[in-house]
Amino acid sequence: MPDGEKSPLIGARTGRFSSMRVRLLAIALLPMLVVMPLFLGAVVLNWSARFDSLLIAKVNGELTIAHQYLTRILQSNKDHVRALGKSAEFEKTVLAGDDIALAEFLSRTRLTLGLDFLYYIRENGQLVATTALNDQEDLTKWPVVQQALDGEDSTEIDIFSAEDLAGFSPELAAQARIELVKTEAAVPTLKTAETRGMVIHTAAAVQIGGDQAALVGGVLLNRNLGFIDTINDLVYPAASLTEGSRGTATLFLDDVRVSTNVRLFENVRALGTRVSGIVRASVLERGEVWLDRAFVVNDWYISAYEPVIDSFGNRVGMLYVGFLDTPFQAAKLRTFVTILVGFLVILALSLPIFLRWTRGILKPLECMIGTISRVESGDLGARSNVTTGQGEITLVAGHLDGLLEQLQERDRDLRRWGEDLNARVEARTQELREANQRLEATTKQLVVSEKLAAIGEITAGIAHEINNPIAVIQGNLDVIEQEIDVKSSDLETEFALIHEQVHSVNILVNKLLQFARPEEYAGFVDHHLPDEVINDSIPLVQHLLNKVDIVLSLDLHADRAVSLNRTELQQVLINLMVNAIHAMPNGGQLFVRTYNHDEDAIKGVLIEVADTGQGMPKEVLDCVFDPFFTTKLSEGTGLGLSISRKLLTRGGGYIKARSEVGVGTTFSIWLPSADIE
Ligand code: ADP
Ligand code: MG
Repeated sequence: MPDGEKSPLIGARTGRFSSMRVRLLAIALLPMLVVMPLFLGAVVLNWSARFDSLLIAKVNGELTIAHQYLTRILQSNKDHVRALGKSAEFEKTVLAGDDIALAEFLSRTRLTLGLDFLYYIRENGQLVATTALNDQEDLTKWPVVQQALDGEDSTEIDIFSAEDLAGFSPELAAQARIELVKTEAAVPTLKTAETRGMVIHTAAAVQIGGDQAALVGGVLLNRNLGFIDTINDLVYPAASLTEGSRGTATLFLDDVRVSTNVRLFENVRALGTRVSGIVRASVLERGEVWLDRAFVVNDWYISAYEPVIDSFGNRVGMLYVGFLDTPFQAAKLRTFVTILVGFLVILALSLPIFLRWTRGILKPLECMIGTISRVESGDLGARSNVTTGQGEITLVAGHLDGLLEQLQERDRDLRRWGEDLNARVEARTQELREANQRLEATTKQLVVSEKLAAIGEITAGIAHEINNPIAVIQGNLDVIEQEIDVKSSDLETEFALIHEQVHSVNILVNKLLQFARPEEYAGFVDHHLPDEVINDSIPLVQHLLNKVDIVLSLDLHADRAVSLNRTELQQVLINLMVNAIHAMPNGGQLFVRTYNHDEDAIKGVLIEVADTGQGMPKEVLDCVFDPFFTTKLSEGTGLGLSISRKLLTRGGGYIKARSEVGVGTTFSIWLPSADIE
């Protein structure tokens, strides 16, 4: 895979890996996040229901207490009136037959007993009362009174009309009158005031002097706040309720609060307010006991209502006790919130722990994935090095490291082999290249040698073939000259010309032979100072220098002798100088320089012949040492440089040329020193 390109495999692995982390987290947190809330919810709901039913049970108990208290009041009223009826003083007063005295007595006693009215009624309807009661009124309509006249004591709750009450006293009627207050959730009504009074109606049977009579007393409950506060204190003694709650007790006439400690505002009792329609339907209309939450005046209360039955057996009102629900609801809410906060805190605390655990479990995997991706991108030395933990993943990571170690080892081996192989191939190639070069050089040499050998053979042959006729011509010419006095004849010029031409043919043939078989012509080898040879050669070319205005500069510093035949060295130098002169047909400068010069630690002399002539292109320069190579057409032989090289090579030296077209040419000769040191 190319570098920098992210492996799709790694991507897939990373994806799988993160999903694995999510799954592990889910496994760890599922009970916590789902089961725990469900369980807690169920517990809380159950607890809440039990809590509510406990509250209902409590209020039910409280209603019982209130009911018992009411019963006791009725009973004690009965006891009081009965006791009065049986008292000696009363009997004496009745027997005295003075109704005015009896009325006074009753009036006194009424106050002592705390009754709102008290009267004495005989079987014949004759009435003795504390107040001016209308005689015409039939008081025996009351079952209580009727029963007492029949000889049986009884006490009941009865509803008196405003007129009934006014019959006892106008104040009583006034106390009973209660203006209705508009109340939320109550059944609508056209009435504006409740004028009736709810009364504890008690009658005791009295038999004095053979007469059957009844002593009848009553307590008006409307606005009787002492009565309701006593019930409340009894039912809700101090500290019997949660802080913030408050107990309430109420007596209803029909659905109107006639005595209550429920407050409308601060210190204003909710007299005249009415019960909610739903409670009214249940308790008053259906005669049930209400045990539930109910909206009382302006707040929610845990409430208990029971119907109040009058002596006729009618449901005429209700007894209520209840306590404010809000603090209990608040307590409940606090508990919920505490549980919720506790749960969240546990969750918040455990989440990092779970995360750390999963990270701990997945860390070796993470390391492995990192390692694999690094290996894929070429780093074979990458290792997971997971040592912590004993888990299976750690084991796998260890195995992976082991495998990678082997892989790297093999890779190293392969690389080493590859490098070895390369080096060998390189070495072989180098050897081959060198062999090839040697072969090429040898072939070149061979070609040159072959060429030279052939040329030498041909040249030697031709030279011999020419030498003989020339010798014949020369001999015959000498004979002719002896026979004829050439000097005095007219042919002297012609003979001189023939001699000259024969001589030049001789020289050419000698040169050819010298080139073809130099060994035979090597002749006598002597030691010469090159500078001297140069100085001796200058006069021979002087006429050529003069011809085309060439300035010669000599710069001679060599003081070492060379062991080369003097004629040969001279021939080499003259050829170089002549060539230079030919290269400067319009004049120029000719330099001849010599130095002492060591070549490869061998002492020797360097001679340079340089000109400012036309120079040579590369093709020419490459061929100048070839035999018969000339650019001078008929003028040149093309043998000068070829022979020179042969002579110098034989003498242990060399000759080189460098040239630039239009600038000039320099030939350098080096010869080893002949001095013995
Ligand atoms: P030749 O002088 O008879 O032509 P050489 O062997 O002496 O034969 O020279 C071969 C050729 O090398 C010449 O024809 C000439 O073209 C070239 N040459 C030699 N010396 C010079 C020089 N100094 N400047 C330019 N060309 C040169
Ligand atoms: Mg020449």
